[in-house]
Amino acid sequence: MNEIQVKYRDWELFSDRETTEQTYSEFENSGAESCGCDYCKNYIAQRETVFPDDIKELFKKLGIDYMKEIEISEFAKLENGLHYYNGWFHFKGDKGLYNSITKWWLHV
Ligand SMILES: [Zn+2]
Repeated sequence: MNEIQVKYRDWELFSDRETTEQTYSEFENSGAESCGCDYCKNYIAQRETVFPDDIKELFKKLGIDYMKEIEISEFAKLENGLHYYNGWFHFKGDKGLYNSITKWWLHV
């Protein structure tokens, strides 16, 4: 493993970015694309614009392809018409406790 340390707010994350990037490049479909239900189609339609720039930068540092989430779940339709989601991305490393980013929340 050739890990790098990535700091984000009060987190210290350790990722083997090269191996993580290679792993993401080896699978074609994200969790949402593999599912294909209406909630996942809604997420896919909004995916490129829902993440703030600092999160996209974090994903890039870790080697995560944000277009290939592992899984998402839709929890509720909000009063404003948006949907409440959470989801998972994984990255490879063996040093830190956080080798997956879980429970990010989006309204799309
Ligand atoms: Zn689905």
